Amino acid sequence: MPRIEFEPKLDFKDVLLRPKRSTLKSRADVDLVREFTFRNSKKVYTGVPIVASNMDTVGTFEMAQELAQHRMFTTVHKHYTVDEWKQFRDQVAGAQQLFDNVAVSSGSGDNDFQKLKDVCAAVPELEYICLDVANGYSEHFVDFIRRVREEFPRHTIFAGNVVTGEMVEELILTGADMVKVGIGPGSVCTTRKKTGVGYPQLSAVLECADAAHGLNGHVMSDGGCTNPGDVAKAFGAGADFVMAGGMFAGHDQCKGEVIEKDGQKYVLFYGMSSDTAMKKHHGSVAEYRASEGKTVKVPYRGDVNATVLDLLGGIRSACTYTGATHLKELSKRATFIRVTQQINEIYTGLEVKK
Ligand code: 5GP
Repeated sequence: MPRIEFEPKLDFKDVLLRPKRSTLKSRADVDLVREFTFRNSKKVYTGVPIVASNMDTVGTFEMAQELAQHRMFTTVHKHYTVDEWKQFRDQVAGAQQLFDNVAVSSGSGDNDFQKLKDVCAAVPELEYICLDVANGYSEHFVDFIRRVREEFPRHTIFAGNVVTGEMVEELILTGADMVKVGIGPGSVCTTRKKTGVGYPQLSAVLECADAAHGLNGHVMSDGGCTNPGDVAKAFGAGADFVMAGGMFAGHDQCKGEVIEKDGQKYVLFYGMSSDTAMKKHHGSVAEYRASEGKTVKVPYRGDVNATVLDLLGGIRSACTYTGATHLKELSKRATFIRVTQQINEIYTGLEVKK
């Protein structure tokens, strides 16, 4: 029989962080750098754990170079060729801070596996691998993580996406160091509409972080952040890293074509399974799958540096308001106030039995 869960599940928009007494004098006193030791690779990470998504309009080499200067992370998209990776390596030779903040992305097919091996052989400085599939629940994906872990015992592996604790545990026990959390919250994602599947992101992060931390693993909240406040909420809910696509879109570093219309400048931003991405990388939309991403025009925003400073400033302020001297303390200091009603209560006005 189908089951219904009545316990409220929340998105970022459903909550606010409550301010708390603080000894901090200014937001400049807040430290956003975190240090993690990854469970399976045993590698130590230090940096500001905000991540540009591995979308081809965001996770570019140019983005990685800019974000690394702020000690922020980029999951470089999987469509660069091995030769392009080699050229990039030559261009940035010796820039270890860059490779401390860069992952190579991969899908879960046999071709992907071979390409991953080729890229990692061509760029030995790479220490991070991001295994990314729309549905991280398949047995095939679990087998793929096992295979990648065997091939790359010392690399740090991010894998996802899932939204529930039991699957977070399975991916970590199979070899992932950090699990990406998010199904349906993305700004150009249509999964919730096309399939009816999804999970409110704040609750997904809360529950998945709890499961991962119990195993000394980590979680990356992926998708649904539309402003710095949402990123602060994701950290408050227990995310170790926070990934965003739309917030980084529209900048020079995205390498997209700038379109002028009615005196305004725009850049195309699209989901990685949208018609636009499918046609660009595969020639057409595969018949068996619905496109679960859309294409939008976002305002052209120039250099990403200004956006980064605004983002970091917002998170520093969130830490100041909640009394967290270090980003690490934000989740310990966080009390969320629910500010929306559940839709069913609004729609029906009926008392819901809990
Ligand atoms: P945003 O930060 O823009 O809200 O979300 C970015 C995330 O959306 C990505 O990191 C990825 O997980 C997800 N995403 C990107 N493209 C697509 C797509 O075509 N379909 C779906 N379902 N999700 C996507």
